[in-house]
Formats: sequence, C-alpha cells, structure tokens
Amino acid sequence: MEWINLMSDTVTKPTPSMLKAMFAAEVGDDVFGEDQSVNALQDYAAQLFGMQAALFCPSGTMTNQIALKVHTQPLDEIICDVNSHIYQYEVGGFAFHSQASIQLLQGTNGKITAGQIAAAIKPDHDWLAHSKLVVLENSCNKGGGSYYTLQEIDPITQLCKERGLALHLDGARIFNVLVETDETPWAVGQRFDSISICLSKGLGAPVGSLLLGSQPFIKQARRVRKVMGGGMRQAGYLAAAGLFALKNHINRLKEDHLHARLLGETLSELPWVEHVAPVKTNIVIFSVRSPWTAQGCIEWMKNQGIKAVAMGPQLIRFVTHLDISQNMIRHALNILRKPMAI
Ligand SMILES: *Cc1c(COP(=O)(O)O)cnc(C)c1O
Repeated sequence: MEWINLMSDTVTKPTPSMLKAMFAAEVGDDVFGEDQSVNALQDYAAQLFGMQAALFCPSGTMTNQIALKVHTQPLDEIICDVNSHIYQYEVGGFAFHSQASIQLLQGTNGKITAGQIAAAIKPDHDWLAHSKLVVLENSCNKGGGSYYTLQEIDPITQLCKERGLALHLDGARIFNVLVETDETPWAVGQRFDSISICLSKGLGAPVGSLLLGSQPFIKQARRVRKVMGGGMRQAGYLAAAGLFALKNHINRLKEDHLHARLLGETLSELPWVEHVAPVKTNIVIFSVRSPWTAQGCIEWMKNQGIKAVAMGPQLIRFVTHLDISQNMIRHALNILRKPMAI
C-alpha cells in the first residue's frame, strides 16, 4: 500500500535529481573545513540571508540549541512563546546545555508581540534572572503553521536592540512563510542576530539544518557544535542535497499550502471534527469532537491509508510536503468524507 503520510514534512525521501546531486558531490573532511560541498552550502545560505556566515549541522534541534548556548550564560533567561519548539520539543535542552531559565509567553497561535516581550523583560537585579535572548518561531509549528510578517517582527527587532537582548529565529519552515508573503530571505536576515533553517522539512533534503549569524557568532557556534558531537566528516553528500533543495524546492512549497487548505476545508465539514485552526501554510491542526479521540481517529485513518500524529488528547496534525501529490490529496479527501464509526 502507498501511504498518504501526513505525519510531518520530515518524511520526504530524496528525489532522483537530488540523489544525483548527492552522488556528484565533492567531499572532504569538514571538521578541518575541507569539505567543498559543505562550504558551498554555507556560503550560499549566508549570502541568501545577507548574513556573514553559516554552519551546517545534523538537525534543527542542534542549530537552535547551539544558538541558545552562544547567546546566553548560565543564570540568563530566554523569552519565547509557550508553544515554541525550543521549549516543547527539544527535551528541555535550554536547561541542559545552557543552564538558562525560560520565560514563557502566552501568544496567539504561537505568535508573541513586542508589548508582551517588553512586559516580560526583567529589571537588572541581584535576585532575578537576566533577560538575554528572545526566540521567535516562523512559521509556528504548534501554532498551526501561522506566521509573522516582517512588519510584525520589526517592533520586536527594535525592542531587542533598545534593551540589549539578542534575537534568534527558529526558521525551521521560514521558506513556507516567504512564499506566502513574497518577502526575501535577505530581509529576514537583517532583523535577527541568528537564524536556524531546516533543510529536511518542506525542502525535502534527507538531513540537515543551517545556523546563520555573524562571523564571531558562527566561530563560537562551531566550537559548540563540536562539543555536542556534531562535527561531521564527509558531510558534503548531505550538504549537496541541502544546496539542491535551496535551489529547486522553495517555489513549489505553494503547492503544499494549497493541499493543506483543501484538507482544512474538508475537515471543517466533517461531523467528528470540532475545530480547524486557520490554515496559513503547510500545517493543519484540528480538534476532534468527544467521544471521538485523537488516537481513535488516527487509528481509523491509518486503517484507510492516511498517517497523522496526535498533538494532544483531542488534537491531530497533518503536514503536507514534497512527497504528497495532488492525487494523494484527492484520495485523502475521499477517505476523510467516509462515515467514521466510533
Ligand atoms: C522540526 C523543527 C525543528 C528542528 O527539528 P529537528 O527534527 O531537530 O531537525 C526546530 N523548530 C521547529 C519549529 C521545527 O518544526
């Protein structure tokens, strides 16, 4: 059976053209800085975002965790939305690696405002943690793929500058945002001190994430990557997939967004669906009506050939991606419209 796998946009497999680019990669030992394909990827990404330097890492968790570590000292505090990936899904790494505290804000669909951040910055005092870093996530995974526009980010950038806080972007899915807003990576790069981007999400590369920032920031990040065990040798085979993805798989993300919208529209008409969060990019988060449960519905869908994940007892997530065709979506919509016995 061919699965309609909507668990995540990480489930994609390299296309034949991507594999060809990987096979053709020139490689060397990247711990010595001698892998030409890794260097080419890092240079390309840094230029794309108008930032000084980039660092290729095995995962988005690692690029985020390195950023937190380089921006903070023990006893510092990180400010972010309660639904942030860095808080929810990185095993509490901010405490483990950085010995930092965290100030969680209740945003709207994963988005926080300059006003909320300003109110959360702690005064300089002996018995308070030192507010040091703000982290935004764009698009917001647990926010249902919602996104900030540059206009919404501008006051946050300005506040961080005024108050001497660093600003990091968890841009695992930043390209999903940019194809919707018609903004450029360069314009995003001008508003953050550091950015993480994932190559293995919607862009379809098998592995990899990039951390972007200033030259001194990336120099320190390279040391932290090494101590975390993330120094890779002939990583150029993976970097070549990433470079191919950046050059070929950005514009097509709009297709994923259309597919997500179609799923959202159909879901909102189903008797067992209670609420569908506004579909803005490639993520559809919806709640199911009691007595139905997320696990029960996921089991039923799995028996019909659709895979999804639970985000809570009543909450399910679909993510569209490169390996989901128009036909699969048509098929999925037909399955979802079938009557579901409890
Ligand atoms: C996937 C993801 C990451 C990083 O995940 P890895 O699986 O470690 O690559 C970071 N932030 C967000 C918002 C993500 O969705």
